[in-house]
Amino acid sequence: MRLRNISGSREAIAESPYVIHEPEKYKGNWKQLFGNDYPVRIEIGMGKGRFIMDLARKNPEINYLGIEKYSSVLLRGIQKMELDPMPNLYFIRMEAEEIVDVFGRGEIDRIYLNFSDPWPKDRHAKRRLPSREFLSRYNEILKKDGIIEFKTDNHDLFQFALDELEPAGWHLEQMTEDLHHNAEMMEGNVMTEYEEKFSAMGNPIYKYVIAR
Ligand code: SAH
Repeated sequence: MRLRNISGSREAIAESPYVIHEPEKYKGNWKQLFGNDYPVRIEIGMGKGRFIMDLARKNPEINYLGIEKYSSVLLRGIQKMELDPMPNLYFIRMEAEEIVDVFGRGEIDRIYLNFSDPWPKDRHAKRRLPSREFLSRYNEILKKDGIIEFKTDNHDLFQFALDELEPAGWHLEQMTEDLHHNAEMMEGNVMTEYEEKFSAMGNPIYKYVIAR
């Protein structure tokens, strides 16, 4: 049953006009895809896509790419796009490890990480999206004064993310351990699916904004 589900979503994704199928072909040329000069921002691990779809709807002069590794999850985003298509948003099904093959140097204006998988075992630290290994990939694709915004309710992951900054050559621009009670950082906050779920359970939401 599970397998049937997955192969079904792979087929639907293969046919979807909202998904970029060979993203490495656009490396260095993402602006051509959108047909304009607007900045390109990405969310890595977009899940069902609520956050990036809300951003794209609010900001027609910014281009967005939502990255997700699981077909079955991405499919939910595609189904929502079919009801409300937007010219400034596409999805990519891929593993974030490959982003340097897909985006050119400095090509990305901003990166969003929301409720990334915690990978709690030490030996999996490299797989965490805010790890120094990933920060060095982001360093390649993000423009010079570009920023990364990261939200999570996972205390250990957030602490790890903070500890990774200095060794990787990044610094904090903004930080809160309780986003929903921080008026300044809450301004313009766009909720993600996980954010809504975990904050409703009473978990504080951690957030940082970082730059080099
Ligand atoms: N950002 C969404 C979903 C959070 S769950 C929200 O806040 O509601 C984390 C998502 O990231 C999952 O859908 C998972 O499949 C995806 N993900 C985790 N690691 C990834 C990776 N290395 N590459 C691409 N997607 C990844």
